[in-house]
Amino acid sequence: MVATMIIDDVINDLVAFAKRHHIIIKFLKMPSGMRSLAFIKQKFIIINTNCPESQLPFKIAHELGHVLLESDDRIFHSKSMDNRFSSEGTANDVALHLLIKFYLDECEEYNLNSVQPIMEQLHIAPKFLAKVQRITKECLTH
Ligand SMILES: [Zn+2]
Repeated sequence: MVATMIIDDVINDLVAFAKRHHIIIKFLKMPSGMRSLAFIKQKFIIINTNCPESQLPFKIAHELGHVLLESDDRIFHSKSMDNRFSSEGTANDVALHLLIKFYLDECEEYNLNSVQPIMEQLHIAPKFLAKVQRITKECLTH
């Protein structure tokens, strides 16, 4: 399957998932440095689309992670994808679960021998390799 088709499918899955959870996603082309935002209380996220399309699934999934996990009204932004703040780490965990689940749902077949296609197509940072391997295995054996 062509990579961009998978990306479109995963984005559609994330948008449908958000709808089911009454989370509104607004896609906006902002200056390239501007971060995507999650307004927790309002269940509202803004995604900066000014980036390669392959980066959108992780961005969307990450901000969804904030809304799903947090209950206060702080505004989160993915200024850094490092795990200095525990909320960033847990948002990334949720993001990886959502991305991998939807990715595998969209794949006709998936060869567990390598998670490299998932990592590359969904633009997942190399530091998440071990997590991606674990989550992929969980998804495929359930
Ligand atoms: Zn974040």
